[in-house]
Amino acid sequence: MNTLMNTLSYVQPTTTSPWGVYLAQVDRVLPYLGELARWAETLKRPKRALIVDVPIEMDDGTVQHFEGYRVQHNLSRGPGKGGVRYHPQVNLEEVMALAAWMTVKNAALNLPYGGAKGGIRVDPKQLSLKELERLTRRYTSEIGIIIGPNQDIPAPDVNTNPQIMAWMMDTYSMNTGTTATGVVTGKPIHLGGSLGRVKATGRGVFVTGREAARRLHLDLNGARVAVQGFGNVGSAAAELFQQAGAKIVAIQDHSGTITHPKGFDFAELMPYVQRHGGVQGFAQGEAADHESFWDTDCEILIPAALEGQINVDRAGRIKARLVLEGANGPTHPDADDVLHERGILVVPDVICNAGGVTVSYFEWVQDFSSFFWTEDEINLRLDKIIVDALRRVWDTADHHHITLRTAAFTVACGRILAARQERGLYP
Ligand code: GLU
Repeated sequence: MNTLMNTLSYVQPTTTSPWGVYLAQVDRVLPYLGELARWAETLKRPKRALIVDVPIEMDDGTVQHFEGYRVQHNLSRGPGKGGVRYHPQVNLEEVMALAAWMTVKNAALNLPYGGAKGGIRVDPKQLSLKELERLTRRYTSEIGIIIGPNQDIPAPDVNTNPQIMAWMMDTYSMNTGTTATGVVTGKPIHLGGSLGRVKATGRGVFVTGREAARRLHLDLNGARVAVQGFGNVGSAAAELFQQAGAKIVAIQDHSGTITHPKGFDFAELMPYVQRHGGVQGFAQGEAADHESFWDTDCEILIPAALEGQINVDRAGRIKARLVLEGANGPTHPDADDVLHERGILVVPDVICNAGGVTVSYFEWVQDFSSFFWTEDEINLRLDKIIVDALRRVWDTADHHHITLRTAAFTVACGRILAARQERGLYP
């Protein structure tokens, strides 16, 4: 029984809902925190959660209201940092969990940030470009009371992109009479964006995968990869694996599932996905049943879509040796146990997909110093930060005989709670 359940009055998590999954992950780390466990309750409640009404005028003259959120889970180690998600399933509980995973991720990578996340419950595909702009600008104004370059710095997440970040930067700048490039990251390049940011999350997934494969003596050349989610993260990661000699044998996205035992040809696949908005109908390979994706014969599996995808049943069927969590929160805790028992190595989200926020950090630093780095410098520094963080987590896992996830949480929560303790309680 999870002793942490129901500590808050405003969410009712279950064992498989995002906040419940996060609480269970925290539970597992408590034995390794020593004296700092005294402060652990800090991790189990967000510092601040803002719910906003976002009314916009639609192109047909009607007015529609959307629900928006910005949650600052923890600010002990620095300003809030984390993306903004536009999705029909966004709700307070999900945004809380995503904000908390940002706290852990930023601390695991030793970035000088707390954790935050935002979102709007909306299907952006149903909006025109103008409606999307009005939605973004009104949302930014509403959360403007808690964001800022030194307070909380949003970034892209599911269904948000550099153009949306440009509107957010402009709206915040207009409201404050400044040109505040540092208020969001993931911006277009000529607005203070960073080279390498768009592909950074996928690059981080590849780098952690490369390191993990080396430790498993798994040769990437000829390795078979299955990827769920073919957006910014999944497609960039898959392409890097392919360049390293791996074969992408199965892809599942919102449009469908396709398989090709010989491996897809990216030169044709990428333009197709850009034209059609998904992989469904691509001429190479074959369409497959949705659930059969989890039975794919492969060495590497990359869940890079939404949370909660790997349950106990799917964990029992996965054939990969290595699971790389490109998505945030894709694996249920009991499914984690099944994968561990089956000898399948999981590189957890808080390390695996941290490449995005790491280059966001570079972008923020470049904006503050008004001095911009080359793409090579960015990719080299990204590689080093990820490799060092993964090594530290691996050493912790070996030392305590725990999974990489619990080890990553141990490293991260130790840093967060040490900062908490040193700052002391106010007043
Ligand atoms: N949304 C990304 C994540 O989940 C990036 C956040 C950021 O760059 O601040 O890590």
